[in-house]
Amino acid sequence: MHDLSLHLVSIEAFCIRVPVKMPIKVAFGTFRDRPMVLLRVVDDHGAEGWGEVWANWPASGAEHRARLSIDLGERMVGKHFDSPEQLFRQLSQELEVLVLQTLEVGPIAQVLAGIDIACWDLVARRANKPLHRMISQRDAQQVPVYVTGINPDQPEVFAAARQAEGFRSFKLKTGFGHDLDVRNLQAMREALGPSVELTCDSNQNLDLPAAKAFVKAIAPLKLAWFEEPLRVDAPASEWEELSKFSSTPLAGGENFHNEQFDQALDGSVLHVIQPDITKWGGVSGNAQVARRAVAAGKRYCPHYFGGGVSLLASLHVLAAVGGEGVLEFDAHPNLGREAVVGELLPVRDGSVPVPTGPGLGAVPDLSQLAGHQTWTGRVKA
Ligand SMILES: [Mg+2]
Repeated sequence: MHDLSLHLVSIEAFCIRVPVKMPIKVAFGTFRDRPMVLLRVVDDHGAEGWGEVWANWPASGAEHRARLSIDLGERMVGKHFDSPEQLFRQLSQELEVLVLQTLEVGPIAQVLAGIDIACWDLVARRANKPLHRMISQRDAQQVPVYVTGINPDQPEVFAAARQAEGFRSFKLKTGFGHDLDVRNLQAMREALGPSVELTCDSNQNLDLPAAKAFVKAIAPLKLAWFEEPLRVDAPASEWEELSKFSSTPLAGGENFHNEQFDQALDGSVLHVIQPDITKWGGVSGNAQVARRAVAAGKRYCPHYFGGGVSLLASLHVLAAVGGEGVLEFDAHPNLGREAVVGELLPVRDGSVPVPTGPGLGAVPDLSQLAGHQTWTGRVKA
């Protein structure tokens, strides 16, 4: 048995904003830089671990989450916890009233997720084991990946270039208008060929009639999934109607938390479950959701659009649970990813190797990010 116990003596937060050359569009907004919040936790023996807090939206919200990490971190340093999971459960419970008081369900859940990832990295590093071997006996050598964040402007050109680099699965951003979306998917299918996995994501942007018209139009293109066609809070009856009507499997999960996962896992509407490890649950919560998804015959495909720590954490959970899942992989240049992952994840024939080093398998190179830090803070025992 591995020693999972924790006695943290410090938590540091680093807020980073990396400029982008090409803005990245989604249905509800545009990335004009790439924000990232990294956490470093240290225990009483000097072992360290790294986590990442979801910080993409609202665009100004990353610094707030970094500050909140230090604020909430005060509740954790200097105390004993039996395991990262126990810390996660206990802190989630302790913060319930603060969530009600502030309505900050997202930022608080995201900070807890980042701390959970850091704690798992720490205990895995201390045990000199890759993170996925701390949560599973499965001996995974590689995981399949897909290209995400593909803009609606001539996506077939961008996707074909990625195909030449070794990618075999592609997700288009949709929700920009029926005709443009259908045209783009047709062009991608034509450019990439019938054997690649093609999917799309409308980021909650359609109503039921528009979604039904869209799934009818794209049915011949044989997409592997259609992600967040409707708002997450649309009536269950609308989701059920669309699911029955659509020959394309439906996907979602990046905007779920807590019992919403129970409903999705127990129901038949979603065939693809996509929690974001930095947005809710960290490794503790996501490993559980992932195992249940695979056991229910669904695909666990972790949502990811952040820096390198969250990419590695998502990869390890997917490697641990297996199934038919595929890892979301951002093919845009992003120093926030590159300064962590470096050359660790070369894509070959649609897959990347599972890192074999301790913990996540890499640590952030802060020297590469130094010029882009917008806020740092630290809390000590
Ligand atoms: Mg999405």
